[in-house]
Amino acid sequence: MTVRDSVAASFRRLHKRHAGAVDGLRCRNTGRSNCPKLAINVFAFVDIPKELCSSETGRPFTSCLVCNNAFEEYDEYMVEKAVRKYNDYGVQDTVFEYAVCMDCYATLSAGFSEESRERLDAYFRERVDPEARQRYLAEYDSDDMKPRLGTCMVTGVRVEELEEYQIVGHCIGDRLVVGPAPFMIGGPAIDEIVGLLSAKTVDALGGLRDQYFGLPPEFEPHVLIL
Ligand SMILES: [Zn+2]
Repeated sequence: MTVRDSVAASFRRLHKRHAGAVDGLRCRNTGRSNCPKLAINVFAFVDIPKELCSSETGRPFTSCLVCNNAFEEYDEYMVEKAVRKYNDYGVQDTVFEYAVCMDCYATLSAGFSEESRERLDAYFRERVDPEARQRYLAEYDSDDMKPRLGTCMVTGVRVEELEEYQIVGHCIGDRLVVGPAPFMIGGPAIDEIVGLLSAKTVDALGGLRDQYFGLPPEFEPHVLIL
């Protein structure tokens, strides 16, 4: 379980608690409020916004970072980007970005130790109220990314006030699944999350960073593969 899994788990708990009592929280396929796939299919599918596209091509990612397999029309994958902003100069850099297929995502997630998973889960249970978030997001269109990517999901700090942040999206082919993701987590919350991870998990994530991104050491403690 990673950050994204912990967020999804919070949403599943929400669905379970209300068992259909919250408007709109029904599976689009089965009409059931307790469908196990609810967390994915109750929500909307929209065009992938530019924030979650490859910054090289400006188009959706086309292959998995880890296995290099090309994404087909209905392939499911996760996109993550870390951005550093230089607010005094009005510019920003993508520190890293990638897409991974769900198989490779599961392999990466396995790098999180049991201890880290439990702490992450507790952190999101405490800090993110999925019901409040759902209510807040319900006021916006599904394809409006501002409320989803413009505010830290944990602290509520706006992107304009952050120097670093990471965003996560869940895609199928050239569509974005609008559900628990997409979301943004700002630098201060990322630092808190990194502080919760066990040495084993930090080592595993450091290995991935070195293997795939070769980031300079000044980013080391602040960049988390979500
Ligand atoms: Zn893969």
